[in-house]
Amino acid sequence: MLGVCKMACKFRGSDTLRKNGFTRGKQSYFCKNCGKNQVEGDDREKHHPVAKHIATVLYLEGCGFRCIARMLRQIFGIKIHDPLIIHWIRKLGLMVENTLHREEKKEMIPLL
Ligand SMILES: [Zn+2]
Repeated sequence: MLGVCKMACKFRGSDTLRKNGFTRGKQSYFCKNCGKNQVEGDDREKHHPVAKHIATVLYLEGCGFRCIARMLRQIFGIKIHDPLIIHWIRKLGLMVENTLHREEKKEMIPLL
């Protein structure tokens, strides 16, 4: 029998999950809303947030993506391929851009 749990979908936040067997020894859930499978306590985030921080600092210091990957590997022993670093930097760039647009809109509102 399929049980309904109170865990929320990690993709859309809906509570339409039902148990769907086991994945790598962990309870798996299927979301009836978005149709995706997910595991309880999903720990697929492999890279330490510190690696992201170091990569960002090195990028802002003018290092190239391959250079950042090499330094992370040689100095910190963290193996990350440069396409992932590019992905991180792009994501951060979008966040900065969105924040700046929000600030611009705030400034455009006339004060009464
Ligand atoms: Zn879902």
